This record gives sequence, structure tokens and C-alpha cells, in this order.
Amino acid sequence: MAPIKIVQFPYLSDNYGILLHDEDSQQTIAIDAGDADAYNHILQSRGWILSQIWVTHHHWDHTDGIKELYQRWKCEVIGPKAHSQAPIAHLSHGLRAGDTLQFGNSLVQILHTPGHTLDMINYYFPEEKILFSGDTLFSLGCGRVFEGDMDMMYHSLCQFLTLPDDISIYCSHEYTRANGRFALTVDAENQDLISRMSEVEKLLDAGQPTIPTNLGIEKKTNPFLRTSDSSIRKKHGLENASASDVFAALRTAKDNF
Ligand code: ZN
Ligand code: FE
Repeated sequence: MAPIKIVQFPYLSDNYGILLHDEDSQQTIAIDAGDADAYNHILQSRGWILSQIWVTHHHWDHTDGIKELYQRWKCEVIGPKAHSQAPIAHLSHGLRAGDTLQFGNSLVQILHTPGHTLDMINYYFPEEKILFSGDTLFSLGCGRVFEGDMDMMYHSLCQFLTLPDDISIYCSHEYTRANGRFALTVDAENQDLISRMSEVEKLLDAGQPTIPTNLGIEKKTNPFLRTSDSSIRKKHGLENASASDVFAALRTAKDNF
């Protein structure tokens, strides 16, 4: 029983695409599909046949390649059941919170994390300790709140706080440097954040991705997961605010950063 192969590759200006391959069944899954050429290039170079596309949310930079990939590979398209502002092309199977999928020998759990969009879902492999977090959780940041509200996004991020620390997080964008610069303005004394940022600068300067990240590190360094931290609260005069209100203040500050 071979482990799942994970290939991460950049596309557009700052997106990451993912292909998952199971040797035993020869099945290949694309997580999102914003750019058909980028996905086809990896599929061809590996000799893999695309079986399914698993969509996180309806935004164009995650979905624009679906039609072309579907036509070429006749693959199945799976994604959120609850549509928000745009339907997902060729969607044949809709997923909700708590649904499960099987990929090779792996169980996959569906988390629904609305806020950035209302339809956002994330794919969690508890045995492999991998989470595909879409545009909900980024390294040192989180997605902008477009369709939902601040309280909704706060509760979506709280779902990640209940997961074990030793999970690898694959998010959909390389935003870590800009996120980290903001994080340092609200959490300047955090030694874990300072050392993560120096590692991030080294990786990016060497042309390396900062993704995947690790959930345990994010819990210690990502301000949007640290709404109960007393020094962050103190700095913003929010000692007695609800965690959701602290989140809203941080997200608004980041929007204006
Ligand atoms: Zn998005
Ligand atoms: Fe995106």
C-alpha cells in the first residue's frame, strides 16, 4: 500500500494547484482547477490520468480550468453542495459538512468553512494528517471575508483549532510573506512568529514555497488563530471583547494594511 503522492505546483500569479495520485488504484485527483494548462502539464509529465476534480469554492482562480479538463479527461467534478454566487461547471456530486469520501485507502472528511465564500469546503485526510484549506486558512493569515460575515469566518477558523497540531496544511495561495508582515504588526514580540518569518524569507528568497505549513505552527503564529492571546488583545484595547470581535478587528486591520 503506497502512500498518496502529492504534487504542489504554482499557477497564475500566486495560486497553488495540487494533484494527488494513488499508485494502487491509479486514481488522480486535482484539488481545484484554476488553470487547465498548469494541471495538464503535470499530468502529462507524470503520465497520470485525471479521475476527479475536487473543488473548494466557486472563485474563478479555482475553477476556470474545469471545463477544459472535463472535456479532455472526462473526469468527475465534486465540490460544495451549497452554491453561493456562481454554479460550478459539470458538478456531479455536491458535498456538505460531515460528508466523507474515499481516495485509495484514505478516508477524507469534508469541512464546511464559510466566510470567504458561503460555499467553501475543505478536504481533510485524518490518517495522512493533511488538510487542503482552500482560501479559508493561509499560512500566517486567512481569506478575506467576501460573502459571509466576520462571525461566520471566525467560527470556520475555530474548526481548525480542534484538529491535531501535526497536520500539514496545503492552502491555495502563496501569501505568506505579506501575511507575516501584517502579523508582525499585531504580534511583534511573538518569538515563534519571528522565527517562522525568517524561515519564510529564506524559503522565498531561494525560490521555494512556504506551503505546506503545519497546523501546530499556525496555532502559535497566525494572528487569526490567536484571538484569545492576551498581548494581541491588549495591543488593540480588546481585553474583554469576544474572540469573534477580536477576529473582526484583526481582519479589518489586515484589509486596510
Ligand atoms: Zn477565493
Ligand atoms: Fe483564491
